[in-house]
Amino acid sequence: MALHCKPDIQYIKIEDTPSPEPSVVQFAAAPLIPDIPLQRNDVPEAFTPAAAAVAVTAIVDAVPAIDPRDPECFLKRCAGFNKKTKLRCNSVIGKKSEQNCHPTFLPTCRAHRDQQSFAGWCQYQRANGERCGRLFRWTPPYFELCWEHQGHPDTPCYFMKLPLELRHEVFRYLLPDHPIGSTTAPLHKAENMQLQAPHATLVPSVPHVVQFPSKPEKRSWQRPKYSGAFPMPLLSLYLVSRQFHQEVKDLLFSIVPFTIDVRKDGTFMCGRRLLEPRRADGSSHFLMDEADEAKQRFLKYFDWSAVKHYVVDILVENGANGGHSTWDEEVELYDIRDYISVVVSGVLAKSRNLCKLYVRLCLANFPWTHEQTLANTKLIVGPFESLRNVRQPQIQSIYMGIPIHNSMLQVQRSRACSGSFAPICSVPPLPTQIPILVPGMPDFDTYASAWSRWISSPSTTALVPKAPIRSMFTAFKDFYSELSSYVPEVTYIAGRRAFLHRARVAREQENVEAFRELRNEAIAYWSAYLDREERKKNAMDAKMGRMLDMDVYPSHEWEESSSASNNNSNNSKRSIQLP
Ligand SMILES: [Zn+2]
Ligand SMILES: [Zn+2]
Ligand SMILES: [Zn+2]
Repeated sequence: MALHCKPDIQYIKIEDTPSPEPSVVQFAAAPLIPDIPLQRNDVPEAFTPAAAAVAVTAIVDAVPAIDPRDPECFLKRCAGFNKKTKLRCNSVIGKKSEQNCHPTFLPTCRAHRDQQSFAGWCQYQRANGERCGRLFRWTPPYFELCWEHQGHPDTPCYFMKLPLELRHEVFRYLLPDHPIGSTTAPLHKAENMQLQAPHATLVPSVPHVVQFPSKPEKRSWQRPKYSGAFPMPLLSLYLVSRQFHQEVKDLLFSIVPFTIDVRKDGTFMCGRRLLEPRRADGSSHFLMDEADEAKQRFLKYFDWSAVKHYVVDILVENGANGGHSTWDEEVELYDIRDYISVVVSGVLAKSRNLCKLYVRLCLANFPWTHEQTLANTKLIVGPFESLRNVRQPQIQSIYMGIPIHNSMLQVQRSRACSGSFAPICSVPPLPTQIPILVPGMPDFDTYASAWSRWISSPSTTALVPKAPIRSMFTAFKDFYSELSSYVPEVTYIAGRRAFLHRARVAREQENVEAFRELRNEAIAYWSAYLDREERKKNAMDAKMGRMLDMDVYPSHEWEESSSASNNNSNNSKRSIQLP
């Protein structure tokens, strides 16, 4: 009996849909060979769905009274396989097994009792609400769907039928198990484990670009150890559906903290440098590049309001040790304090529901007394004090020490990952081996608890209102930068005597008197400049007058006729154009 095999396929099997492997292969291959005549002299033997389709047609042709709910006759014939031929046994089964119409396993003859195949009743629901109900050989944990309905777009999503708590349990396997920070370079990660990378000395000339291995290691089915690199596995979850995206995001933000690293070379989050050191006038040391665009996208699209937990790691370094003659301790402390102010107003205050805020500070190699250390700690973490409504703010211990590989590294992302290829920044983890201020020290405890109390106190706004001196500072800075283009000397004053530094110190201490004094000093520079220019103008006026007066010859005729005002005094007036 020759027949044509042409399974009725209205849709294309989607790759990666949850279906058993052999079926996928067979089912996908079947439409490619639609008109191959098949020789079938007896009942079907093969167990693949494509063959089953053939079998269905064969039986429909042969026996008109076929049960549409059991087209492969699993209830009437043995589902086992002949060990030699690998074909289905198909022996007619006695009445006994037929009585059980809902067996767990497909019935077999006595010889194949040991072969257990799950009996599946296709759960596909038609538009009219009726289930397909077709009996088939089921391979759990794949969906209980017959070959016709596997990968069908209308099939129910069993995962979504789980309670949300169970879905969360599943998601947790793909979420990072420690804070999301900016420590991604192998050199920096090794530091996390307090190990010195052995190859560190091999690449001293090109330390600023670290290449990720191009091929990721094979993942086992155990919980993967999240490596801290981007992209992370959870990003794939985001792509499943809008509901997945929402649920995964909610879970991520409610359990995983984000680390913000504040260092002399900038402020880092998720491998992006959010803030960078700038010149006193606010201009950048760097050109706009690929990483900047990636940063702009991050700033624009990251859901700042959804973050619930932050860890802020602050590293203050002593530049005097490095032999920088221009380095100034006070300037450095205020630079870091400025970063903190921006982190507070630009990042932390944007969180709708900030729960945990952990602040850790490492003061690298300063010869300070206990009192100085505490005073400078207060100076640095002061800007947090304007935050409100944070449920669990905490200054953890203050440490000393410096990371072994302390420079920021750029990590090139593998081309295999989706999204931006812009390199990401990696910074070393904060050294926390040597605590210098710890809970239990009375003065530290007093400050830390007051700090927490202020920040956790309820308020209608996330930040206490800005002091007017901040706007005064902005206007001063504007005036100063214009002034510096006329009077460059003002910029020659460097370090802690510099105008902008003193202005911000006055601002941070809300010292109006000092601020006004400074303002008057700047105005004095401007007045002196105007005086100088006035003297120049007068001197030039006098010289010009004398020059014109020396001309005692009569004027040319054409000049006389062209202008009535062609006389010496007018000429001298017209040509004076001072700024
Ligand atoms: Zn039944
Ligand atoms: Zn059998
Ligand atoms: Zn079905």
